[in-house]
Amino acid sequence: MFISMVELHDTIPLWFWAIWAFVLGSCVGSFLNVAIYRLPQGGSVNKPARSYCPSCKTTIAWYDNLPIVSFLILGGRCRACRARISWQYPLVELATGLLFLGTLLFFGPTLQCAFNCAFEAAIVALIVTDFNEQILPDAITLPGTGLALAARMADHNVVGLDWMNIFFESLTGRTLPMTGLTGSLVNAALGMAIGAGTLWVLGVGYFRLRAFPLRTPDDLTDFLKRRCVVGTLARLKVRRANGKRGAVYVLGGDFSALSPEELAEAEFAPSNAGSPELSMTALDGAQVETGERGVRITSIPDDLEQTVDGRLEAGDTIISGNLEGMGLGDVKMMLFVGAFLGGGLTFFVLLIASLLGALTAAPRILLRGQSALQHALPFGVMLGLATLLALFFGEKGLTTYLDFIASFVA
Ligand SMILES: [Zn+2]
Repeated sequence: MFISMVELHDTIPLWFWAIWAFVLGSCVGSFLNVAIYRLPQGGSVNKPARSYCPSCKTTIAWYDNLPIVSFLILGGRCRACRARISWQYPLVELATGLLFLGTLLFFGPTLQCAFNCAFEAAIVALIVTDFNEQILPDAITLPGTGLALAARMADHNVVGLDWMNIFFESLTGRTLPMTGLTGSLVNAALGMAIGAGTLWVLGVGYFRLRAFPLRTPDDLTDFLKRRCVVGTLARLKVRRANGKRGAVYVLGGDFSALSPEELAEAEFAPSNAGSPELSMTALDGAQVETGERGVRITSIPDDLEQTVDGRLEAGDTIISGNLEGMGLGDVKMMLFVGAFLGGGLTFFVLLIASLLGALTAAPRILLRGQSALQHALPFGVMLGLATLLALFFGEKGLTTYLDFIASFVA
């Protein structure tokens, strides 16, 4: 009665499994599109249960919701209102389908294959939400970290652990457990520490320590205009009108729609109200004056979308500003990735992501100068792409890289 996976694999031809993996992947991709669309808005994946058109809110019939196929049949338009459907939908479905197919061919019908597919689906969702809105939703990264650890308990991963051990031993004189469940969990812990730790130290840690004093309106313009890049939060240290201290976060890099020329003009200008008014920065429309200890806000538009927690009010004095170098989203993403991949492959991810980041940013910076950094692709996209590469080529890539380094040392 019971047919094992191995028997099935032997009796049914490979092409059948390949098609099955692709179809399953594209269906998962279709679900990801829903998550990608709803999660950054704080929505739920299962409420409402059925997909609807973002333009006319018409519920989409099952036959118009088939991955890739429906998009082609409908010519990329909604059946009800003829609104254009984004290319991103079939693209995500195709990418997830191909990833599942590739994973099956690469790893065979194993537990590792199943876990890798689930992991890839989450990474695809993170890449797209970060690309679209510079958001890496906690709803993916935090449960993902827990599930990744569970996966590492069920399916042990000690890739790169022997190599991590060389460092550990030279530092402490002791060796880490390298096999079985303990080895797998040690590797996951190393991955989390290396991945999240590196990003935290480079990003959040560095910028948190570095506070820019803001004494005059010009300091504030300079801080918001030159120091902040897209995807960063600016943390403003504030003294409230009642003397209490507080912190307010403003989206520092919210200049994505501005050209470099427009950006250059962003600063304080005289306003009708007499005091200078900040224009074309995160605090667009706020009026300020030089206060006793910093920049005092005299008035602020009601509709200004400025804060994550806390809100600037008229009468507040901004004392200094810190940058959250990268959003904590990247750190949490690497907690997830590190737990799943382990230390060695996580190192590979950081290496490749930095390389991708440099390769995509360099031409822009060379052509358009420093301000092009504000239009650079978010780092989560690079981390995600590097993670997908690491799943397939990380082990080979890491060995090649280490042999290369060793050839210099020896
Ligand atoms: Zn519609």
